[in-house]
Amino acid sequence: MTAESNPLVVSPDGARVLWGDLQIHSGLSDGTGTPEDLYRYARDVAALDIAAITDHDHWGMLPLATHAELWQQLRGAAARFHEPGRFVTLLGYEWTNWIHGHRHVLYFEDDGDVLSAIDPRFDEPSELWQALSGRRAMTIAHHTAGEPVATNWNIAPDPALESVVEIVSVHGSSEARDAPWIVPAARDGHFVRDALDRGYRLGFIGSGDGHDGHPGLAHLGAQTGGLGAILSEELTREAVYDALRARRVYATSGPRIVLRVSLGGRRIGALLAAPSASEELVVWVAAPERLLAIDVVRSGQIVASVPGHGRRELYFRRELHELQPGEYVYVRAVQEDGAFAIASPFFLE
Ligand SMILES: [Zn+2]
Ligand SMILES: [Zn+2]
Repeated sequence: MTAESNPLVVSPDGARVLWGDLQIHSGLSDGTGTPEDLYRYARDVAALDIAAITDHDHWGMLPLATHAELWQQLRGAAARFHEPGRFVTLLGYEWTNWIHGHRHVLYFEDDGDVLSAIDPRFDEPSELWQALSGRRAMTIAHHTAGEPVATNWNIAPDPALESVVEIVSVHGSSEARDAPWIVPAARDGHFVRDALDRGYRLGFIGSGDGHDGHPGLAHLGAQTGGLGAILSEELTREAVYDALRARRVYATSGPRIVLRVSLGGRRIGALLAAPSASEELVVWVAAPERLLAIDVVRSGQIVASVPGHGRRELYFRRELHELQPGEYVYVRAVQEDGAFAIASPFFLE
């Protein structure tokens, strides 16, 4: 018998790629299995480094927001499975707002509150952010372009609490019209690229948003899933928080594609203050399946598409000219089977 692993990178320095699923539903709301089942599966079967169970605040047989014992159960499981250096868990829940869009809330501390989207005190994004301000917490908008509900981008994400967006999950991709596998009933103006065009600075992660008990491998039971690739030297809550805040992350639709991108020597997600008129983009991809193309997106447009020629590894450099303040640049790598990885943008100031 022979078997083949995912691409593996061995280098003497540089950040590790940590794999995380930061949106998982258990049987405590509308998913499957106990929190313990899911953390064990995430750690021992899917070989994830980071997992967050984010059940709905008011969507289940017993609403989380009004059943403190369920929230205690989630807190207990997150605390028991949290093992810095081996497996990081995050306490969280889904703020299931049917007007402004869904966001999941993650706490990078042992404790947190369920601030429900149907509680009049927290039913507006600004009220949620106000209640979370000063905490080591994060909100992440998801399935922003369409079903089950699109995100209202008229409300600007709070820069201190919302540094990344979930661009892909089992619901599909919310990147842009030209992306593979876009979410059903996608609405123009609600894609992630539309949010970037408004000037919002958001990094990209994927999460499963799986309800079938397979965190980290949600794509095996659906056309697409989602994973967050978090670039960090350490596997601790603090390091994961710092990487997400710095947008040092990329998304995949499930497969563990290795994607390395730099612009002018800066890491993904970086803010380039006073960029030179031209900067060099360097891209390296190692994928488990054959590559179709690597696309370079600059301020709303695909400006280059480098063919994959059926290879699984690709490297190229390209000079980007006449860069202007306010622009953004990102790279996505698409496999022949449609699965993809997409790196957080570089933002020019
Ligand atoms: Zn949702
Ligand atoms: Zn969800």
